Amino acid sequence: MCGIFGIYPHKESAKITYLGLYALQHRGEEAAGIVTRNGKKVHIHKSLGLVSDVFNEKILADLRGEMSIGHTRYSTTGSSNVKNTQPFYVKSHLGDIAVAHNGNLTNAHALRRDLENKGALFQTSMDSEIFVHLLAHSQKKGYQEAIVDSLGKLEGAYSVILMVNDILVGARDTYGFRPLCLGRFEEAYILASETSALDLIGAQYIRDIEPGEIVFIHRDKIDSIKPFKPTPNAFCIFEYIYFSRPDSFVFGHNVYAIRKKLGEALAKEYPQTADLVTPIPDSGTYAALGFSKASQVPYEMALIRNHYIGRTFIQPTQLLRDFRVKVKLNPVKDVLKDKKVIVVEDSIVRGTTSRARVKTLRQAGAKEIIMRVSCPPLKHPCFYGIDFPTQKELIAAKHDLNWIKEFIGVEDLGYLSLKGMLDSMPDCCKGKFCSACFTGEYPVKPPKKISKTILEKN
Ligand code: 5GP
Ligand code: MG
Repeated sequence: MCGIFGIYPHKESAKITYLGLYALQHRGEEAAGIVTRNGKKVHIHKSLGLVSDVFNEKILADLRGEMSIGHTRYSTTGSSNVKNTQPFYVKSHLGDIAVAHNGNLTNAHALRRDLENKGALFQTSMDSEIFVHLLAHSQKKGYQEAIVDSLGKLEGAYSVILMVNDILVGARDTYGFRPLCLGRFEEAYILASETSALDLIGAQYIRDIEPGEIVFIHRDKIDSIKPFKPTPNAFCIFEYIYFSRPDSFVFGHNVYAIRKKLGEALAKEYPQTADLVTPIPDSGTYAALGFSKASQVPYEMALIRNHYIGRTFIQPTQLLRDFRVKVKLNPVKDVLKDKKVIVVEDSIVRGTTSRARVKTLRQAGAKEIIMRVSCPPLKHPCFYGIDFPTQKELIAAKHDLNWIKEFIGVEDLGYLSLKGMLDSMPDCCKGKFCSACFTGEYPVKPPKKISKTILEKN
């Protein structure tokens, strides 16, 4: 996962990009960066850390220019060091090229080997660097042809923002795995992963970039082409379940409303009484609301979030993950004491956070704990940009419901069914999702080499 943002033309482009990235922080907490172009001069600042740590007034003031692209990184490929931060920039015979990418290319290894054989010198281990080398190596005349030629070679998932000299380019793969929307702010156009980034700066949402579409934003006009053979859509359903912000419109629909519907469906699949229903905040909050509405079980906030730390899952080492689980949420003992509690979680990945939360609820006095999860068991790795690292780390890939129930330490555990999840999606999107992490049915063939390591690692 990653958050991407671009704007052109605006005098305060870097500051606006900073705010946009701020609203996209949840999509990646590992690193952030902005590249701007001012006349023929390119300015770059990127570093490991949260958006608010990476930039300050002085740095933003130095990022001059009317075009900016920005990125928040959550590592899916490439290790987490500063070299692997984005946007990635090179000066080539085509001129200045910078890229901010969200997704995963499934043919990255083959493309990279090919480019290296042709003399490309890669500076990072990110598959996103392939964009710029493909562009730099394209034999096509003219930037549009070179972009179409380069994107046409990619397989897998990309929502991408490119800076190609004085043109801002936005593109989405033909499946549409990852979101990308178009907005307007004063005279400028904006490209952003989610609409929440537009809201924060008071920009107007125009529409989504369509699967397979490339838009070219010039100083005084915007062009759009769809040069590729269409494929079925495969919107990432996990954007709705967990990844996107609830206040965003993603794939044309409000995430909050969908999460609530998932919770309603969950309550219908498991009719039950209890003293209260409570979420594991923040991600479980919306499904828990829906659950309470449909079941009539009173809603309580039994775990209070400490807002001054980042998300837990993104931290790359197990040691940090466990520590962060503990500091993040504190129980309200009065609400929990001697109660039968239904706790709603949006998803279970490794099971470690859920186990720790259940322990917390238990220690706070809950008498009986029933866990409901607003998606089916996650059993298969993602090759399109979500960091479910190895199949072995996905608890549901190795263990059955009973084992997971014991591991997490609840009296009862129930996941939403695949049908329940798919039926909760907006009518116009039905049949257009990628649910491979639940079903193992991959819309784009997983790469041989990566799939082996991901499936067999450990
Ligand atoms: P687990 O219980 O499997 O250790 O953790 C599940 C929690 O991680 C859930 O609360 C869910 O919201 C969150 N989660 C699920 N997928 C991801 C992800 O890709 N990234 C992050 N940061 N959190 C995730
Ligand atoms: Mg969560």
